[in-house]
Amino acid sequence: MALIYYAESIKALADYPTAPLVAPRPDDKPAALPLSAVHEALATWFEANARDLPWRAAECTPWGVLVSEIMLQQTPVVRVLPVWEEWLRRWPEPADLAREPAGEAVRAWGRLGYPRRALRLHAAAVAIGANHEGKVPGTYPELLELPGVGSYTAAAVAAFAFGRRETVVDTNIRRVHARLFSGAALPSQSLNAAEMRLAAQTLPDDVGSSVRWNASVMELGALVCTARSPKCRECPVSGSCAWLAAGEPPPTYTPKGQSWHGTDRQVRGAVMAVLRAAESPVAPELLQRAAADLGFEPAGSEFRWPPCTGSTLPRSSWSAHWRGC
Ligand code: SF4
Repeated sequence: MALIYYAESIKALADYPTAPLVAPRPDDKPAALPLSAVHEALATWFEANARDLPWRAAECTPWGVLVSEIMLQQTPVVRVLPVWEEWLRRWPEPADLAREPAGEAVRAWGRLGYPRRALRLHAAAVAIGANHEGKVPGTYPELLELPGVGSYTAAAVAAFAFGRRETVVDTNIRRVHARLFSGAALPSQSLNAAEMRLAAQTLPDDVGSSVRWNASVMELGALVCTARSPKCRECPVSGSCAWLAAGEPPPTYTPKGQSWHGTDRQVRGAVMAVLRAAESPVAPELLQRAAADLGFEPAGSEFRWPPCTGSTLPRSSWSAHWRGC
C-alpha cells in the first residue's frame, strides 16, 4: 500500500519537477533531494566508482552484453569475468557459437553453475542467425523472443547494448528501490506489479539519463547498498533514503540462503566436471564415483547425503538417481 502511495507521489512529481518530496517519510517530512537530484547524485557517483567491466566498454558488442547478462544472472562478476573473456575470444559473434555443437557451449561454461544457461545461449545464437541475420536484435520485444531471454535480460540488453530507455529491474535494483524509496529493508519476496510501477516511475525521462540510472542503481546495490550490510555512510543518496529516515526497520522475513553442500546442485556440478573433461562417452560408474567422492553414500540404486536431516536435500529432477532424505 505504501509502495503504491509512493508510486503515485512520484507520478505527481512529474507534473511538479521542483517539488521537494522524494520519498514518503513516516513523519511526512520532506526528503532532502528532489528525484532529479537523486538521479544526478547517483550518476556522478557511478562515474567515479563504477567497476571497469569489459561488457561496459564502448567497444563491447551487443552479443558481448547479452552473454554477460546471461552469465551474471546467478553467478558473481568475479567468476564470470574469465569465462566471459574466453567465450568472446572463441565466439566473437553469435554465428561462431551457432556453428559449434551445443555441448561445446556447456563445456566452455566451466563452473559458472546452472549450465542450462549455456544451452540457452547456444539456442539464442542459432535463433539470431536464423531470424536476425546474425545480429543481436535491438528492441525489447525482439530480445524477449530469444531462447533463454526473460524480461530482465531483454530490458538490460536493450538498455546497455542499444542505449534504449527500458525499466531494468534485477535483484540489486529491487533492493535499492525498496530501501531508498519504500523504506523497507528488503523488497518483497517476489517481484510484483507495484515494484515494476515504482521502477518505471522513477526512471528518468531522458534516454541517456535512464541508461545511466539503471546502471548506477544496479552498481549501488552491488557495491554499497548490499543485502547484508549496506554501507550507508558511503552512499551518495543517504540523505534521501526512506529506510534510513524510518530508523532502519528490520526485514519482515528471513531471506532463504542458497545451500550448496548436500544438494542436487553439488552433485550436478561434480557430474558436469566429469562430462566436461571427457572426450568420449562416460561410463555411469564414473558419474556415480563423482557423487561418492563428495560423500554421497550409495543407497541401493540411489545416493544419500550422510548428514541427513530430512530438509537439506531437495527432491528434484535428480531424485530418480540421487535421492535426499
Ligand atoms: S542510505 Fe543505505 S540503505 Fe539507503 S540507499 Fe544508501 S546504502 Fe542503501
